[in-house]
Amino acid sequence: MPHPYYHQKIAIVTGGGGGIGRALCEQLAQAEAAVIVADINETGARETAEGIRRAGGQARAVQLDVSDAGAVQTLVSENVDEFGRLDFMFNNAGITKLGEVRDQSLDDWRRVMDINLMGVVYGTDAAYRQMVKQGHGHIVNTASLAGLVPQPTSVPYTASKHAVVGLSTALRAEGADLGVRVSVVCPAFIRANMIHEGSVVGVRLADIVARQNLRFMPTPEQAAQAFLHGVARNREIILYPFYARLLWWGARLFPPGPLSWRKKLVRDFRVLREKAEKSLS
Ligand code: NAD
Repeated sequence: MPHPYYHQKIAIVTGGGGGIGRALCEQLAQAEAAVIVADINETGARETAEGIRRAGGQARAVQLDVSDAGAVQTLVSENVDEFGRLDFMFNNAGITKLGEVRDQSLDDWRRVMDINLMGVVYGTDAAYRQMVKQGHGHIVNTASLAGLVPQPTSVPYTASKHAVVGLSTALRAEGADLGVRVSVVCPAFIRANMIHEGSVVGVRLADIVARQNLRFMPTPEQAAQAFLHGVARNREIILYPFYARLLWWGARLFPPGPLSWRKKLVRDFRVLREKAEKSLS
């Protein structure tokens, strides 16, 4: 059921060319928002926008690298020039680099930080200034469960996502009296491309996920629905699915619980790593 919170609003979604971002774009369009689908993958962005238009919605594709501050600012300014305002900024684009710190180069660290953190900073900065000026707007940043509960074997990713949670929750307090809302979404594992990509030593997140005995691995569509529901209720931190909430509560109330989960992740990773190394030799 499309939510009236998004009805006839203008929304930019970064990373809208696939995965959770695409699902966000589609559901925003179903709620009759006009969506600007921004992605470094132009083909993916076009497919999203065309799919939305075919279904009768309003969308436009833009190629954007969120790690380019000038390009992000231009995208926001151009849309404000055209529509007169910006209602939603979804800073969703992100990447992962799966591997232990001993496997990651400083370039891996930089790439993760440039996209996952600075990409969100650029999108937030450009949208926030405009939203303060117009006196309303909602910024929605995508972090991760790894932004609340540390995820070994993804240390740069964990660092970037903790920073996104911190910047979002701190800015939420600054923006409140200026009419600007800020929410941060924290998915656990979702069936999107990311879990098959970003391997540094031949082990994919999907392989690790397979060893976690998860009963429920949501689709991007299910995740987007939960996030848009939480955003419409102006939730500060939106965790999904439910076990992500349990892990976060556990991390705060009973640290040894999530600690054993973290150790298991490292053990699982090393088993898979050994297999990957053997298959290469
Ligand atoms: P995905 O790989 O399916 O989608 C990410 C999209 O971001 C892709 O379309 C990609 O082209 C785009 N992108 C990558 N670099 C970009 C850049 N520099 N500029 C613009 N676009 C860029 O992955 P997803 O799972 O849909 O990820 C969306 C967000 O959700 C990310 O921020 C990710 O960290 C977060 N997340 C995902 C999971 C999961 O399990 N899938 C879990 C927690 C958090």
